[in-house]
Amino acid sequence: MGTLPTLSYSQIRTYLECPLRWKFLYIDRLSEAPRGYFSFGRTVHSVLEELLQPFVQPTARRAGGSTQFTLEEFGAGRGSPRAPLDPEGMLALYDRLWVSEGYESPEDEERYRALGRTLLLRYHREITTQPPTPVAVEAHLETTWDGIPVHGYVDRIDLTPSGGLEVLDYKTGRGLTSRDALTSEQLGLYQVLVERNYPYPVERLALIDLRGGSHLVSPPRPAEALAALRQSVGEVADGIRDEEYAPTPGRPCARCEFQDRCPEFREVPAGERAALATLVDRFAELREVERGLGEELASTARTLHTEAERLGVHRIPGARGLAIRRRETRPRGASSTPGSPSAGGVAAGTTCGSPAPS
Ligand code: SF4
Repeated sequence: MGTLPTLSYSQIRTYLECPLRWKFLYIDRLSEAPRGYFSFGRTVHSVLEELLQPFVQPTARRAGGSTQFTLEEFGAGRGSPRAPLDPEGMLALYDRLWVSEGYESPEDEERYRALGRTLLLRYHREITTQPPTPVAVEAHLETTWDGIPVHGYVDRIDLTPSGGLEVLDYKTGRGLTSRDALTSEQLGLYQVLVERNYPYPVERLALIDLRGGSHLVSPPRPAEALAALRQSVGEVADGIRDEEYAPTPGRPCARCEFQDRCPEFREVPAGERAALATLVDRFAELREVERGLGEELASTARTLHTEAERLGVHRIPGARGLAIRRRETRPRGASSTPGSPSAGGVAAGTTCGSPAPS
């Protein structure tokens, strides 16, 4: 029986994609090479946490963590707002927090660095023009969902004008649409976490598309969507408890760094390799021949059909077979496909049958 850890959204998604990859990461604790786009995302998130901190409003309840003011702290003056960073201060912080690992080249890193400056300056303008009302930034929230421990770091939780909450997630990748906000399971899990940690209703979920400069809003997930998500989380929890770690090859394999340990990618033993390679090559050769024969067969049938039409005959005998030009059987009004040997059985065609009866 496996021990069930507190599940994050990323763990849930990884297990659903491939349980074996989940095991490599979370049981065997194998590490993956750093990636530039993760470093970039981490840096931007850290800057935004600092940038938004001065805007944090007091709340009636503390969920844990230091990025949230309680009413008591606020009353005691410890939560008094301080001035937000100006653009220069923000960029200096950006340089200080920059994570420099995983980039493909110095040029690649510089491209990301310039992109970060652009999108942070734009977002700075946005929040200083229209100051947000967060009650928490980078809030670490936990709960037990029908017996399953789950947690997550919610980028931001804002107070809405009607006294509810908006759950926000920053995205630094490209190509987001409002459909992403409507279907994101990550936002669904965050909704559950926020609802169980705050005494206010969740009124909105949103993705902040930092590259596109848009705020993609969705209503909270309805009960049936949360039930479906709970079902998936339950399947993951059951699989981990039962120690089911079968490899599930698919799209994630392309970026999986554990192929050398995965049975799906196991190498053919050296002693068998040559014989099997010959067989594979012969198979490929035969498929080529099969493709070529198919094309030649169709083209010969088309020529015979055209010739039979030209001569106004329906039967052309050969020494090894008999070509028969079939009558048109297509429905009235349908267009013909001249010479097509197989047009759904309705078009005229020319076929070579077995040797003609003598
Ligand atoms: S290579 Fe594919 S199947 Fe194997 S562990 Fe990685 S993701 Fe899973």
